[in-house]
Amino acid sequence: MVPSAVPSTGPSAGQDLSLTAQAIEHRMEEIGRANGTSNGDHKPAPKELDASKLTYTFTKSPREVPPPGVDSVDGSTICTDHMISVPWSQKNGWSTPELKPYGPISLMPTASVLHYATECFEGLKAYRGFDGKLRIFRPDCNSARMLQSSVRISLPSFPPAELQKLILALIAVDGPKWLPRERPGTFMYLRPTMIGTQSQLGVTAPMEALLYIILSFMPVLDSPAGGMKLHTSPDDMVRAWVGGFGYAKVGANYGPSLLATHEAKSRGYQQVIWLYGKEGYCTEAGASNFFVVMKTKEGKTQIVTAPLDDRLILDGVTRRSTLQLVRERCRDEVEVVERSYTIDEVMEADSEGRLVEAFAAGTAFFICPVSLIHHRGRDVAIPMGKAGAGGHYTQLIKGWLRDIMYGRVEHPWGVVVQEQQ
Ligand SMILES: *Cc1c(COP(=O)(O)O)cnc(C)c1O
Repeated sequence: MVPSAVPSTGPSAGQDLSLTAQAIEHRMEEIGRANGTSNGDHKPAPKELDASKLTYTFTKSPREVPPPGVDSVDGSTICTDHMISVPWSQKNGWSTPELKPYGPISLMPTASVLHYATECFEGLKAYRGFDGKLRIFRPDCNSARMLQSSVRISLPSFPPAELQKLILALIAVDGPKWLPRERPGTFMYLRPTMIGTQSQLGVTAPMEALLYIILSFMPVLDSPAGGMKLHTSPDDMVRAWVGGFGYAKVGANYGPSLLATHEAKSRGYQQVIWLYGKEGYCTEAGASNFFVVMKTKEGKTQIVTAPLDDRLILDGVTRRSTLQLVRERCRDEVEVVERSYTIDEVMEADSEGRLVEAFAAGTAFFICPVSLIHHRGRDVAIPMGKAGAGGHYTQLIKGWLRDIMYGRVEHPWGVVVQEQQ
């Protein structure tokens, strides 16, 4: 089953591939091969996730849509009337997906997720366009990434296209009411989640899991007054490491980061910029990817962001889209560079007047201008453009993406939802 070829960049020859950080690639290949092929033996195959079987149980007590700008009540995020829920077991595979009233889920105190962080999630927004249509942005990317995250923590696999259909089904039902046409230019936040539910304290891959999708409100985070202020991570703390799982959207990456984030916030900074290694490589800003626009010593403008190949950072859909658009649309003015770069390089660019702008990119923060980085007692002020709302490229990229998301331009990344009225 396991391919025997050792990649030249991988672990040293002779190491068992299924026991390396690269094991994830082999698992993904196996899943790719298994999808669509029937198993040859006589046992009934566990059922595959099948969105076409979705059943609908509508709420009998619909709730009120909050006024614009309200996303939570008493510290609880407001969600819509419905959720989608699909149990899985190793024995039977995926159950029938169910759209049902939003509400609590029930777990045994011994459930795997509560002890061993067998949890992964996705985050994508639904946008009410200026043309009245409802769209989501590149849901195929989120669905594919959810599979990667799931497999990394031994939760079940599924065909990503089926997850995408379920995401669309939930927004199709709750979108018309919760993201009404009278509020063009607004968004909601979809959170597909998977948890290991088996009530087994043994440290083992769960044989039962639950996939659910909820639709919630979220504040607008892309334009904090005066720009986003970042504090570098403490010397003795890392968010993710080579060989770890920083590239996966698994809950285990986030809980441990809250301590530093909380401390940074208490000092007046919004997020932590996570550095890595003795060299102090810039990786991510909070749960967003981080971009710096700098001029080289030779005077060439570059947009620089951390690379994916060492798997330290999350492969953001916003990051990916940003890179592609800049490559397509401003090739001649600005060079796109995915490489490891250090905080010292950024500080040096600042002292030499070569630091042009910086921004965070992710679904939650969208494209958020960064105005300040605090590192080891020094504040680096970053230009925020003439209007103070972000530099030229920050604003340009934000405008391009916004136009796609809110239907000002037709683009294959903006997937229109067929709403159920
Ligand atoms: C979700 C996330 C991002 C942004 O990814 P998008 O797909 O653009 O939303 C970046 N970094 C981390 C750590 C994240 O969790």
